[in-house]
Amino acid sequence: MENIRELNERISQHENREKELEQMETRLRMAIDATQLGTWEYYPLTGKLNWSAECKKIYGLPINAEVTFEAFTEHIYAGDRDFVQKEIQKAMDPKGNNRYDITYRITRFDDGSVRWIRAQGKVYLNIHMQAESFMGTVLDITENKLALEKITRSEKLFKSIALSIPNSLILVIDKNHRYITIEGDLMEKMGYNRKDYEGKHPRDISPERYEATKHLYDRVLAGEKYSVERKSETGEDYMVHFVPLKNDNNEVEAGVIIALDITDFKQAQEKSAKLAAIVESSDDAIISKTFDSIITSWNESAQRTFGYTADEMIGESILKLIPEDRREEEPQIIARLKKGERVEHFETKRVTKDGKLLDVSLTISPVKDTQGNVIGVSKIARDITDKKQEETRKNDFIAIVSHELKTPLTSMKSYIQVMLQKAKQNGDSFSINALTRADIQAKKMTLMIQDFLTMAKLEDGKVPLHKEIFKLHGLADEVVSDAQILTSMHTIELRDCPDVKLNADREKIGQVLTNLVSNAIKYSPKGGHILVGCQLLPGKKAKIYVRDEGVGISAEDQKRLFERFYRVKNEKLKTISGFGIGLYLVSEILSYHNSKIEVESAEGVGSTFYFILDTV
Ligand code: ADP
Repeated sequence: MENIRELNERISQHENREKELEQMETRLRMAIDATQLGTWEYYPLTGKLNWSAECKKIYGLPINAEVTFEAFTEHIYAGDRDFVQKEIQKAMDPKGNNRYDITYRITRFDDGSVRWIRAQGKVYLNIHMQAESFMGTVLDITENKLALEKITRSEKLFKSIALSIPNSLILVIDKNHRYITIEGDLMEKMGYNRKDYEGKHPRDISPERYEATKHLYDRVLAGEKYSVERKSETGEDYMVHFVPLKNDNNEVEAGVIIALDITDFKQAQEKSAKLAAIVESSDDAIISKTFDSIITSWNESAQRTFGYTADEMIGESILKLIPEDRREEEPQIIARLKKGERVEHFETKRVTKDGKLLDVSLTISPVKDTQGNVIGVSKIARDITDKKQEETRKNDFIAIVSHELKTPLTSMKSYIQVMLQKAKQNGDSFSINALTRADIQAKKMTLMIQDFLTMAKLEDGKVPLHKEIFKLHGLADEVVSDAQILTSMHTIELRDCPDVKLNADREKIGQVLTNLVSNAIKYSPKGGHILVGCQLLPGKKAKIYVRDEGVGISAEDQKRLFERFYRVKNEKLKTISGFGIGLYLVSEILSYHNSKIEVESAEGVGSTFYFILDTV
């Protein structure tokens, strides 16, 4: 009886356990089904291979199909086959851990498509330490793998985009403010290390800095897109953009923080603001315009000078300011500017809004873009009406004084001549000497007065040329003989072209030669040889020159020599008096003859001044 009860109990225990096992198996099956996991068993000793229905599905085999190890091997993707076989051998090695967990590609039986799978398994050894069975699972992970690859690709793309934004630092934070990614070329410059940021919470990096920036993170994660400007401790300026990243449901998932170094931009902005302030506050009218003479900017002083407001002038033609009779100036100026030249202190007249004529001095420069292309013109106009009036008054004064001096000087000169004659007749050597000197000084004065008069006329634009045909020799001879009287320290040689005839203003060309020869004397304080020469050139031209062995002129001074009132500033020349108008007159008179004065000179060696005229 006892035994039967025991037996019954054992049977019911056994039945319970079997039920439990059955339940466990059902649960396992459900789990396997849910995960779409395929299972397989392989018996290396017999070569038998079993695949579960799910496993066959993964491989594209019908459920009732048989499978062999060879067929399995054949459907490993060719490039992965060696690797898989090696891994199988490794797992079956009795000395190893007998585990197997690899990812590889297969080619499906049905359509030959390539899929990624993950296979895991365990090898069981028999008592002879032989691999008896090998069991495991397979899972198709193609979708995961592709998704992962896509993420990796987008990550790479993100990194390369971030890196190719110059002077930038890009941070991505998650909803808890933790740094997901940090990228950008500024990272290195700012001494940031990716390792210190990625995956870290800002609180753990710098609690103080986090306290200061936390509210900014909160704002972006609340969905606000905004930007702030920041200055770093080392003085750089940054523009920081905060951009919320939203998912398909429009929920913020992360925040992107883009910091751009805008130091250069800021500096350029400050610089141009300063420049704009300078332009605005300038006393000169500053105008910019296109090559088509359309005004593009107009400062306050332009308004003061010309009476038009910026609104009235921007977009208008500059011709509005140019008097009718000077309209041809504009194309000439533009032509010079297009060549990249500047026009400096060009004195002309302009007309104001209420029709008043102004004397202006223009300095016009080409405006270039950063590549050096000329894109427009800037014009600085200075109102010199007052200065001009003052100059006119001075000129008038000089003209009147010179004119008034001429008459008494002429009579003085004739008295000296008469007295000199008498003294010569009487053999009064003291008087001869004294009167000769007086004559020389009177001659010098005459020349000076003549120069002043010419200058005054030039300034008024009234230099009438009295052209005539004359022999160069006669004029040059007169100039040389007159000059020789003025000096005993210099020998003046005339080596001219005896038969050359010129068609020019004889008196004015005489003035040119006289000025050049008297300079040659003046600036050769130690005496020496002076050569007045002529050389015939092709095209019926004559080059006329005056050469001395004097102090010479530096290259720097040579450039400015012909400006009005320009005198070389030099200790050695301090005692030599002059007004700096001689060479100015020479240059002006020659320009009236369509010629030009030129100089070749070396300091301490001497100078040669020359000009070229047409012969007849
Ligand atoms: P000024 O002689 O009255 O100073 P110029 O116009 O004739 O004025 O000459 C201008 C300057 O050119 C002079 O101050 C002088 O320094 C320089 N210069 C002119 N001619 C010579 C020369 N032959 N040799 C050296 N320097 C010269």
